[in-house]
Amino acid sequence: MSSWEAWLTERSDLRARRGTERFDAVLRVHRPGGAGQEPLDLASNDYLGLSRDERVVTAAKDALDRYGASATASRLVTGTLPVHRDLEAALCDLTGQPSALAFSTGYAANLGVLTALSGRGAEILLDAHAHASLHDAARMSRSPYSTFEHNDPTSLDAELAARPDRRVVVAVESIYSVLGDAAPLRELLEVCHRHGALLVVDEAHGIGVAGHGHGLVHELDLVGARDLVVSVTLSKALGSQGGAVLGSTAVRDHLVNTARSFIFDTGLSPASAAAAAAAAGVVAGDPSLAAAVRANAGTIAAICGIEPAAGAVQSLPMPSTEGAVAAALDLRAQGVLVGCFRPPSVPDGVSRLRITARADLAGEDLFHAARLVARTAAAHGAPPRPDTVEGP
Ligand code: PMP
Repeated sequence: MSSWEAWLTERSDLRARRGTERFDAVLRVHRPGGAGQEPLDLASNDYLGLSRDERVVTAAKDALDRYGASATASRLVTGTLPVHRDLEAALCDLTGQPSALAFSTGYAANLGVLTALSGRGAEILLDAHAHASLHDAARMSRSPYSTFEHNDPTSLDAELAARPDRRVVVAVESIYSVLGDAAPLRELLEVCHRHGALLVVDEAHGIGVAGHGHGLVHELDLVGARDLVVSVTLSKALGSQGGAVLGSTAVRDHLVNTARSFIFDTGLSPASAAAAAAAAGVVAGDPSLAAAVRANAGTIAAICGIEPAAGAVQSLPMPSTEGAVAAALDLRAQGVLVGCFRPPSVPDGVSRLRITARADLAGEDLFHAARLVARTAAAHGAPPRPDTVEGP
């Protein structure tokens, strides 16, 4: 065994001892109209079911025929295609933002926006529950960075007051990816304005779900607000792949010139761009989709006896990591897929089941799945909660 092989074995043994091994298993999940034998999916982020929508899939196929399978180069070489412009226009239509720049993933969009707007002489403050991509962006930026208390404008205020002479970029999510709660964006922006800081809002879980689908920034009437930049992913409610940064044309121009994850990355694949553009059009024209996912999320929360969260993601705290893992595995064995989050992915140390609602999983299937989640969580240590919900 080479020393590298020995090192890999040692790392793998350590994961096995700690019980932290991760698996990228191929899981078949039930889709409406499918055979009905596969597990019900309360784990994915396809909140509106658009990844299989005929309009979205047809748009992707047409783009494949027209442009081929790849953008073939960086956007700054030959990789910018008409379909990227169409996508950026569709995202502006959906969100009301003046300008958009598409990236190959939401992860790359976050790397790009944070690194390009910070750097030498700047500092970054992240909400304590901000997504890993925002933490990675902060590390890459070479700016010092730290966190403030989750969703707490007073904590942000104190942190900014301690940095009177710094150019500070603050980054938060609009609806949190694991907790499912909404950020007090108005209050956070007001604090940023008072201290001259810039606010970057990751709407990964807000777009398509909050504000009748237009996002939480739109719902709170913050579109066009000064010193506010938004990032989105196209891989959740929009059912495709990719990401984008939305804001003023000055911000877009700056990113085109300085965001390394834009400049040195091959452009978003044409099929993904076209699919996301079509999905953005569907969401903009049909607010009933966002209403449906939120209603279904409310049903899950009520059956599980938890506080209904702001978007599609519902978070069920478990008293132990072992209980959370066992509940998720038990649910899988019973035909229901949910997410399981545990330390160190959750900064507050509370292991959780992450249950995501979908617009296209309703009625009997939804009630059955949510009741199984509630019962199984209780069997693995969660406080039992009375089920008072009438339903099929
Ligand atoms: N931000 C948040 C809040 C996310 O949850 C995710 C996806 N897990 C991303 C960014 C990254 O998006 P993508 O999957 O498109 O790279």
